[in-house]
Amino acid sequence: MEQGQETFQAEDFYRLADVALEIIVRFDRAGNILYGNRQAKEDLGYGEELTKISLFTLFPAELQQEEGAKEAFLDKVAEMGEGMMYRKNGTCFPVRMTAVVDGPYCLIFAINVAKRIETERKLVRMKEEMEETIKVRNEFVANVTHELRTPVNGIRGHVTNMLEAGATGEQKRTLEIITRCCENMSAIITNILDFSKLGAGKFTLEQKEFNFYQMVNHAVETNIMAINAKGLHIMVNIDKAIPEFLIGDELRLTQILNNLLSNAVKFTSVGYINIEVTKTVQFDDEIELFFVVSDTGIGISQEEKDKLFKSFSQVDASITRKYGGTGLGLAITKQLVELMHGSIHLDSEKGKGSSFSYSVRLHVAQDKKGENSVRGQFEFINQNQDMSKFENIGEIFHYGTPENVGELRSKMEKLVLCMEVGAWDRAETFSHNIKELLEEGPQELKKAAFRLEMNVRKEKYDKAMEQFSNLKGLFEENIGGI
Ligand code: ADP
Repeated sequence: MEQGQETFQAEDFYRLADVALEIIVRFDRAGNILYGNRQAKEDLGYGEELTKISLFTLFPAELQQEEGAKEAFLDKVAEMGEGMMYRKNGTCFPVRMTAVVDGPYCLIFAINVAKRIETERKLVRMKEEMEETIKVRNEFVANVTHELRTPVNGIRGHVTNMLEAGATGEQKRTLEIITRCCENMSAIITNILDFSKLGAGKFTLEQKEFNFYQMVNHAVETNIMAINAKGLHIMVNIDKAIPEFLIGDELRLTQILNNLLSNAVKFTSVGYINIEVTKTVQFDDEIELFFVVSDTGIGISQEEKDKLFKSFSQVDASITRKYGGTGLGLAITKQLVELMHGSIHLDSEKGKGSSFSYSVRLHVAQDKKGENSVRGQFEFINQNQDMSKFENIGEIFHYGTPENVGELRSKMEKLVLCMEVGAWDRAETFSHNIKELLEEGPQELKKAAFRLEMNVRKEKYDKAMEQFSNLKGLFEENIGGI
């Protein structure tokens, strides 16, 4: 033996075999067992007596008729991929195995697959139980949401009657708040029902002809009050190559756009919201549209992005408190987009705004091909003429830039109007925007903006007006006629 060469004895092999998870059995060419590892003794229940029996006892079903056939059984063993191994007590278990039959080396390596089969059975049972639970849950959700909708509609109807009967002053304001609460509640109920239906795979899309431009217009119209109330700008740009009449589920398309648009409004206090729609592919009458809904709002960080599109997920609890919502909107939106054979994607940077893009596949209405007559009549379509104003949207927060000064003047104008009419909620938003826009400004202006916000918050008209004049004077003086 050369120096440094290691010897590997049978004892070394047995020691290693004892730590293996497989059953390892060594036997001679007549089938007599010479060795069984720890796992073999344990699983087969023989202990040390294992070396007193033959392989035929362990595999009676497969090898019994081979007994006495001298070495012919070795061929049989070599090709046995699976079999039933019998314990000392007569019970058996299925194994998957490999055998080595090579000169004096006759070995079987077997894995007890009974445990695996049991685990698989358990998994199937768990899956069935889960499906049953989901079914029961969906039925429950459908019933509960239905039961909730009825009283909400009842309250809303009565409140509408009271408003129409001529409620005034404080009473009118209270009734309007109740109406808004009912609308929110209805929206939440609808979301929960949709979510449950989507989860149960019971959601079918309609395939009906609709006017695409009208659909976009409706979604914008639904949000226009909130957009105006916050002093935001909206731009809508639709690729002229998109036919006017398409076939698809108009209601669900509106829902997708509306979800993204209302989020954009909700999470943006200064700047603009932009909707772009382009035609990416058309093959025969199948058309793919690509939507981008972007805003200059609070943005979403990378870690937060991973949580989005999952049900009930809002990026953090403080957002829920401040802005409300159930965190179901994006989860539903994603599933709807996927049902329309598309995908949704988010680009965003914390503090700089978000851009949600998605694609959907629709069909072109055959008999209306090329008819684009009434596109122009929709109010919001292709309203991007003042786009240049926002080319440097980042500049809006840099004190003294034309974008910053323009936005400050516009917010101040709106603030005064709101204070005049006593719309204190909106006034507070504007005074807060002004403070944000002055973030990089001189100390005295920042202080004035702070005092103004405090007084607006307290809804003190005289004090707030005084602070406003002070701030405006300081600002104009400082900016020097930009
Ligand atoms: P919700 O119905 O509560 O608004 P969504 O699923 O629509 O739930 O949105 C989940 C969360 O994603 C929101 O609570 C918000 O934190 C974040 N988010 C969605 N859209 C925007 C956006 N345009 N700008 C910033 N954050 C957003």
